[in-house]
Amino acid sequence: MTLLLPPSTAGSLPKPSWLAQPETLWSPWKLHGEELTQGKRDALRLALDDQRQAGIEIVSDGEQTRQHFVTTFIEHLDGVDFAQRETVRIRDRYEASVPTVVGRVSRPRSVFVEDAKFLRQQTTQPIKWALPGPMTMVDTLFDAHYKSREKLAWAFAEILNQEARELEAAGVDIIQFDEPAFNVFFDEVNDWGVAALEKAAEGLRCETAVHICYGYGIKANTEWKKTLGSQWRQYEEAFPKLQTSSLDIISLECHNSRVPMDLIELIRGKKVMVGAIDVASSVIETPEEVAETLRKALQFVDADKLYPCTNCGMAPLSREVATGKLRALGAGAAIVRRELTA
Ligand SMILES: [Zn+2]
Repeated sequence: MTLLLPPSTAGSLPKPSWLAQPETLWSPWKLHGEELTQGKRDALRLALDDQRQAGIEIVSDGEQTRQHFVTTFIEHLDGVDFAQRETVRIRDRYEASVPTVVGRVSRPRSVFVEDAKFLRQQTTQPIKWALPGPMTMVDTLFDAHYKSREKLAWAFAEILNQEARELEAAGVDIIQFDEPAFNVFFDEVNDWGVAALEKAAEGLRCETAVHICYGYGIKANTEWKKTLGSQWRQYEEAFPKLQTSSLDIISLECHNSRVPMDLIELIRGKKVMVGAIDVASSVIETPEEVAETLRKALQFVDADKLYPCTNCGMAPLSREVATGKLRALGAGAAIVRRELTA
């Protein structure tokens, strides 16, 4: 990255109201067939323009072509029956009706590669593409075939690696794996979670990132956070293993969270996407608030390795709020960039 402190987002942005119901997760599409295909691309271009105007340097598709960051990927795989549903506890936090793994999982064709090629055509800026991580995928399904979370994770890791290689060939600069489950299942993270993640990223020449967070601002997450006490030290469990892993970038939550900033010390040497925007609140940060979070992070990460970012995706927020937050992020990063280069 040539720009110091290049801002980016964790991934998702709100969709336009003509494409899907605003401020709703898993919102059904309002368009169908060819109109939907066209509408998703138009929305992608708008999301890109919002980022460009806000001074976001590493841009994404805003996840405009997917309903959900995990489910949409799984929908494209064989071996998962979406009609056969079971209720499971997701991230040990809330019950959800999920599809069932009924046979060997495989990826008959690429999932996001055409979308990534389209994004690549629209911009010369660095682009980042988000995929779910293997453990988070496992945690969003009922498994009636492998009967082992680890075995299923390895199967997903192979599939993710196929997709990631094609995304890289399409011109993606950073491939990010979303692993919120890393903040919950610490024994599994250290037993096989990080290893499966490395398998998903194996052989890639582009940069690779892992995003670990405390989730969207939905009720189940805010209730969970109330139980975590005055210091959120969950990152402490996964960071030592990630520090020695092959992943290049760690994306984490900072602003308005109770994560002690000095935990970043545990991943010294890695690039760090520092969450300076709270996605669980509709209050728009000021650029100075963003700058203050970044200054604190600079105590624990070298400036050339600090990437200002959002705490998580912004899909459930209103477009007005999300756009305001994007602009605050871009402006806050610019303040600190000026201080560093003065
Ligand atoms: Zn997140």
